Amino acid sequence: KSTLLWFRRDLRLGDHPALTAAAARGTVIPVFIHDDSVANLGAAPKWRLGLSLECLGAALEAKGSRLILRRGPALEVLEELIEETGVDAVYWSRLYDGTAQERDSRVKEELGNNGIEAKSFGGHVLFEPWTVATQQGNFYKVYTPFWKSVRDREVDTPLPAPDLTAPSEWPGSEALPDWELGAGMARGESIVRRFANPGESAAQSRLGAFMAQGVDEYATRRDLPAEDGTSNMSEHLTTGEISPAQLWHAALREEKDGKAGAETFRKELVWRDFAYHLLYHTPRLTEGNWREEWDAFPWNEDERRKEVTAWKQARTGIPIVDAGLREMYVTGRMHNRVRMNVASYLSKHLMCHWLIGLKWFEDCLIDWDIANNALGWQWAAGSGPDAAPYFRIFNPETQAKRFDPDHAYIKRWIAEGQENPSKDALSYFDAIPASWGLSPSDPYPAPIVSADEGRKRALDAYENRGF
Ligand code: FAD
Repeated sequence: KSTLLWFRRDLRLGDHPALTAAAARGTVIPVFIHDDSVANLGAAPKWRLGLSLECLGAALEAKGSRLILRRGPALEVLEELIEETGVDAVYWSRLYDGTAQERDSRVKEELGNNGIEAKSFGGHVLFEPWTVATQQGNFYKVYTPFWKSVRDREVDTPLPAPDLTAPSEWPGSEALPDWELGAGMARGESIVRRFANPGESAAQSRLGAFMAQGVDEYATRRDLPAEDGTSNMSEHLTTGEISPAQLWHAALREEKDGKAGAETFRKELVWRDFAYHLLYHTPRLTEGNWREEWDAFPWNEDERRKEVTAWKQARTGIPIVDAGLREMYVTGRMHNRVRMNVASYLSKHLMCHWLIGLKWFEDCLIDWDIANNALGWQWAAGSGPDAAPYFRIFNPETQAKRFDPDHAYIKRWIAEGQENPSKDALSYFDAIPASWGLSPSDPYPAPIVSADEGRKRALDAYENRGF
């Protein structure tokens, strides 16, 4: 028997239920399809995907297999490959956003009608979204009860990478460089490349180091942006270079060994599952205010406003906000505490629609994740389920004092006004387009909207609307 393994956001060989099942049937032909789900990615995630595909291709070759690359609408490409290779099954790992669900249902139905076994498997989340329900049988809208309902659940033990049997003849493949996945990286691929860590084996080494050194203090250090106190697993999870079950089990082992931060780490991992749970049950999570009453809020929706440009170019004059936006532009990542501040400042102090920020993150983050990004923005803006109430407005000055007391993080990313700016702070100016006209010798700007003024304006707008 012979199976097409359709890789999507599961670019690994270990703990891959679909791949293991395909390998158990006989010959496996791994394929990745450049369809709309790739064409529509933002610049940084698309570029990062290319690095991941390169690693997956090499890992498959080391096992005597290959990664076949094809471009086109998924169903058409799969039908062509079925015709060319004579496989009798197509296996893949499930995705949970509305667009992927619709496409995959159609693929399943069409292939099934033609006598092909079309089967989807788990692996992208810990708990399938339909298996977690409240006592009334509804989905969860609040995180804490969601966590309580899953914290003691069994998660399948991660599977080893299977041996793969190659077909006697391989179908043709396109060449990865021809896809030009990095074409949109105007921000300087080589700069972000210093910070990306692609591939399954890199993910495993990083996980090992974090569990050995970082997890014990995770609960106390995870909120300090100047420290390397978090796992950095997000770029691996979003590409599927590692599975959440592998992280869960690694953390459980440390928890049994008495490591203090291990349960907190599992809790954060469950935020990711919660985001997918919400996305699956309410696909509109990515599209607009989850709480529809927020449609009446006077959001600024014009992306050309000068406040939006200042925010994107990281010169709002609020150091913690600018530092975060610069970190993202240079590294493709941003510390979670700072993401919350940056998002709160755009949606509350500047009263700009959170979708503008969501899209900017989507273009800049190498760990962009459809569910986490949407939940993060809705949470920060106050429009989401389980969101911080609108009137609890982050004060970026107090936040900086509390979480970056020595200004180590701010100094790392803001060059202006410093005698000896750090290499990272200067690299921001190498990364940005010349057309922005910014220089490290410019004076640091005054706040476009100060912490107090923004807070007052946002609260007035909120109260005037009778929220
Ligand atoms: P760790 O602290 O080591 O956590 C381990 C894993 O748990 C993370 O990799 C992630 O998968 C999950 N996790 C941790 N915190 C959260 C959270 N608040 N929500 C959901 N899952 C979480 N995360 C992304 O992966 N991609 C995004 O595009 C993204 N956009 C965000 C946008 C905003 C406005 C906000 C406030 C948060 C966003 N997050 C996003 C969540 C969070 O900031 C990142 O997951 C985290 O910073 C990644 O770093 P880490 O892997 O070192 O995290």
